[in-house]
Amino acid sequence: ERLPLDPEKKNYVREVKDCVFSVVYPIPFKTKVQLVAHSVKVLNQILDLDTKILDQTEFISFGSVLEGTTPLSHRYGGHQFGSWADQLGDGRAVMIGEYVNRKGERWELQLKGSGLTPYSRRGDGRAVLRSSIREFLCSEAMYHLGIPTSRAATITVSNDPVIRDQFYDGHPVKERGAIVLRLARSWFRIGSLEILAKKGETELLKTLTDFVIENYFTAIDINDEDKYLAFYSIVVKETAEMIAKWQSVGFTHGVCNTDNFSLLSITIDYGPFGFLEEYNPNFVPNTSDDEGMYSYKKQPEIGIFNVDKLAQALVPLLDSNQIQQIETILKGYVQIYKQKFMEIFRRKLGFVTIEEDDEQLVAILLKMMEERKSDFTMTFRQMGELSLKNLDSKNIPKSAWALKRLSSHDWYNKWIKAYRQRQQRQNISDEKRQNIMNNTNPRYVLRNWIAQKVIEQAENNDFEGVRKVLKILENPFTLQKEAEENGYALPPPYWAKFLKVSCSS
Ligand code: AMP
Ligand code: MG
Ligand code: MG
Repeated sequence: ERLPLDPEKKNYVREVKDCVFSVVYPIPFKTKVQLVAHSVKVLNQILDLDTKILDQTEFISFGSVLEGTTPLSHRYGGHQFGSWADQLGDGRAVMIGEYVNRKGERWELQLKGSGLTPYSRRGDGRAVLRSSIREFLCSEAMYHLGIPTSRAATITVSNDPVIRDQFYDGHPVKERGAIVLRLARSWFRIGSLEILAKKGETELLKTLTDFVIENYFTAIDINDEDKYLAFYSIVVKETAEMIAKWQSVGFTHGVCNTDNFSLLSITIDYGPFGFLEEYNPNFVPNTSDDEGMYSYKKQPEIGIFNVDKLAQALVPLLDSNQIQQIETILKGYVQIYKQKFMEIFRRKLGFVTIEEDDEQLVAILLKMMEERKSDFTMTFRQMGELSLKNLDSKNIPKSAWALKRLSSHDWYNKWIKAYRQRQQRQNISDEKRQNIMNNTNPRYVLRNWIAQKVIEQAENNDFEGVRKVLKILENPFTLQKEAEENGYALPPPYWAKFLKVSCSS
């Protein structure tokens, strides 16, 4: 499909058939664009760019694309909250090009919030500042926590009004359009293959699956007749592992639809996500998720649901024998998940050896944390910050407030005794234990109240907070003065205790 360069007339919403992409030009903002924040690391290390580039208004206004590139929006479908939702697609994202960097890595660059596309459905193709700040900060935060994720280079804001359902004292809040320049090795999702299977576009399904395997799953021999099974095995494994990593830091995605699950098993499409504050397995960050379908504790099983949908999408490419095998591969998810979960939680507790009772030790700790409403991040963190001796309830200093709270649990002393014996059996110094724990358990995560605070500042054109929080989250394992002064390792202040995030974005 070739489109004339009048995107405002041509980027109309429609059902698209028999293709994977549509040509879509970003629609420039009508008002002045300001840079809210940028990631030096992404610009330097991924895009080989000096931050001087940010002085060029062209670079941050996104009004045009480089000569020779064809900007694209991707057609995909997906299961949303358990049901097939038919055509979805990049409703407000445009891929503006690929970049192969000095290290030889290929990255796809996307603008999110750049205007209407064929896939905008009832939306306007725009994104507001608050949700864009959340995506920008969280993708970088996740990367520095060691969790596979898309990245974010810049966030810009315009004065173009964007209408959303936010109210203050009964008056609608005027919001502004923002754009995140985001990057991933690939933006293909489970829903990318699902739509082709559902619509019976089998040739295209095969072409795209082969493309994905050839380009992103290079360990697989493209001539192997079981290549789709090999591909599926990797996606199952990496999805299970990604979710185990989410669980280990209390990350709750909020919208685990198949269109938001990457085929490369990286965390994508940050919307109404949340990090656990007090440990509540039923935590649901998204106010629109009434049934708690995507609660923290349900994420591992939702992963199974989603990779099962991927298996169904691959069926047209498989013979009957392979269809049986794919079911067996899917069944392996649970074991892979459990193993990864325990591997990380052992590290969270400073264990370097494997013992059978570890599972129980973790389960009892989590049970106590649930009952004492312990801060998820700081309980683990403080356990590593204190010496073994100071973990005794009578020795815990006041500053270790999360642990102090936990230690009022009836089982605490017994648990600590078992923990200490477990430590002594593995024969490493206490220093080493603390070291492992402090490099595994972050001190800073993007608590919702922190995001809210800097969003409110940014809405008043003060972007310093966003920039500082980014810096802090780039070193989540290191004690930082600026962060401590702002209370960023503390539970939410009272004003933020009941903050919720809607999916309006
Ligand atoms: P999400 O659940 O946020 O990943 O989005 C689901 C679908 O809605 C995707 O196809 C998005 O591109 C689309 N969408 C979300 N917000 C907008 C918007 N403001 N304008 C157009 N499409 C949108
Ligand atoms: Mg999405
Ligand atoms: Mg979204």
